[in-house]
Amino acid sequence: MAWFKKVRKPIEAGNKESRVPEGLWVKCPSCSQIIYNKDLAASLSVCTKCAHHFRLSAAERLRSLFDGDWEEHDPGLKSTDPLQFTDTKPYHERLKTTIAATGMSDAVITATGRINGIEAVVAAMEYSFIGGSMGVVVGEKITRAIERAIDHRLPVIIVSCSGGARMMEGALSLMQMAKISAALARLDRARLPYVSVLTDPTTGGVTASFAMLGDVNIAEPKALIGFAGPRVIEQTIRQQLPEGFQRSEFLLEHGMLDMVIDRRELKDVITRIVRFGSGATLKTSVLPAAPVPAGR
Ligand SMILES: [Zn+2]
Repeated sequence: MAWFKKVRKPIEAGNKESRVPEGLWVKCPSCSQIIYNKDLAASLSVCTKCAHHFRLSAAERLRSLFDGDWEEHDPGLKSTDPLQFTDTKPYHERLKTTIAATGMSDAVITATGRINGIEAVVAAMEYSFIGGSMGVVVGEKITRAIERAIDHRLPVIIVSCSGGARMMEGALSLMQMAKISAALARLDRARLPYVSVLTDPTTGGVTASFAMLGDVNIAEPKALIGFAGPRVIEQTIRQQLPEGFQRSEFLLEHGMLDMVIDRRELKDVITRIVRFGSGATLKTSVLPAAPVPAGR
């Protein structure tokens, strides 16, 4: 045993009761403002002072978009750990603890509901479920959601919040990129609109497939959006990256996105896009043929 090694005792948690009830106030990581939790919830988890966008869970996201209740699809689908994968701990155990902690079966909720009166299919990803990673279940649920939209002639909105493909499912998770993209191509052929919403963070295989395939790609302010992380890129190209690299505003400036929209306006913007995009497929709003000029 080393001479100067101190055996540190862990600080005991003790029974000191805080007089401030837990979770009543939140500190904004951007402007350090202390915000009352209820105020934060009322502004869709956007800081009322500096407009910092806190991350939303999948359920909160659906609540922010739908008018009221929604019908969830395929809630019971679970990964079967097809590769029997083990990293720091076995994947099936990681799944079990994550399912218990989040109350979700995988990293996406797909549902049908109404957005300002328009029926739509929405898929919202959950970052707290293994980094919102896209495995077989995420791929399958999103694909089924798109197919359901085609069957019922509904628009599709996918809200991405993901670290990319799920490493524990290896090549099987990469195949989801092609599967979802193919389903989106069928949606396109059916002339139905798809709005992609990219939130912080949207990276890896999700960016490289469906997140960038929207008829309109909308991002939330200052969201991290990219394929590989900045450190990997810097090491590869041996150059320093510019300020704000891989953030929504930078990507908008460089033509990678169509809009950067504040979360508080997102629902109305989506409504306008969906209304515009489905105009051609609705019989009632087909434009009359152009009038023939007189004298011809
Ligand atoms: Zn703030």
